[in-house]
Amino acid sequence: MTGVAPPVDRDAVGAADRLRAGVTVQIAAAVAGASAAPGRIHVTWTAALDAAACPAAYRAQGAEGWGFPGWTPGTGAAAVGRAALAAHLDGLDAGRGPLGGTPPVPAPLELVRSWLRAPAGDGVGGWVAELRAGGDAGTLAALAAGATRWLAGFLRVFGWPLPPDLALVADRPRWRPPGVDDVTVAGGDDGRLGRVAGAGRFTLVVHRAAGREDEAVLDRATFEAAAGALVRGIAAEAVLVTAGDTGEGLRVPVDDELLAAGGRMVVAVVEQRVIAVDRGFDPADATPSPRCAWCPCRDECPPGQAWVAGPGRWRGGLPVL
Ligand code: SF4
Repeated sequence: MTGVAPPVDRDAVGAADRLRAGVTVQIAAAVAGASAAPGRIHVTWTAALDAAACPAAYRAQGAEGWGFPGWTPGTGAAAVGRAALAAHLDGLDAGRGPLGGTPPVPAPLELVRSWLRAPAGDGVGGWVAELRAGGDAGTLAALAAGATRWLAGFLRVFGWPLPPDLALVADRPRWRPPGVDDVTVAGGDDGRLGRVAGAGRFTLVVHRAAGREDEAVLDRATFEAAAGALVRGIAAEAVLVTAGDTGEGLRVPVDDELLAAGGRMVVAVVEQRVIAVDRGFDPADATPSPRCAWCPCRDECPPGQAWVAGPGRWRGGLPVL
């Protein structure tokens, strides 16, 4: 007899509960051990990847580097691309006739330009409204270019019409470890495939306009798996990381091991911020990598200088065979 095996039951809620409990204990212990209050700590994927790549460089960022750098054409491109696509999909839903049918393939630049003319919301929408009011055509043009690139790549990867179970992220809820003040965690996923329900039969989608920094793709998926479980209280079954320029997609299944590794990335951000209360940049725990090529600490960092001067730079992070 042939057939498709039924899906194995997953304890998606229990896995998230265990992760929440373990991460809360570790974060509380880290904060309790601080010599002074480390201040407000918001754990994002950028913080987690920075702290994982080189703790010394992450601590050296200081208060200015740890916070959101503000909206720029770079930081706003994905948000505008997502919002433009979501507005287009809303319009299609509202206008769909009784016969349905496949709507024409959208033109990314037109979608982005249309949204930029009538931005919505307080976040990136509020910033765009300010740019328009100030007549900042240059910044708007750069933002439109980045958002169009993000959106064109998204359509390239997911096709048209989009998968029926694809939902774009509209806002980013935060998780606060209970009993710990001033620590929050948020995921950075762009959407999900499947319905978020107790069985956890959904996949988190992370779309990048370009597939650079490939060595960090698995780290990104690891963090998003844990952050998604912490925020929703349900562990996804996979994280799909896509790249618009190459069309590639890496699907990383989520299991307890991956969740635990992602939880450690979350905790590591808090631990490094606690260490930073007493000690900023310290070459003793510098961790050389291709990031050394543009690291602002390199002049004070012998390990980073050695890496850049040595064969590592030319290998670009590839392993020695
Ligand atoms: S130069 Fe490299 S090793 Fe040194 S702090 Fe920067 S990223 Fe870390």
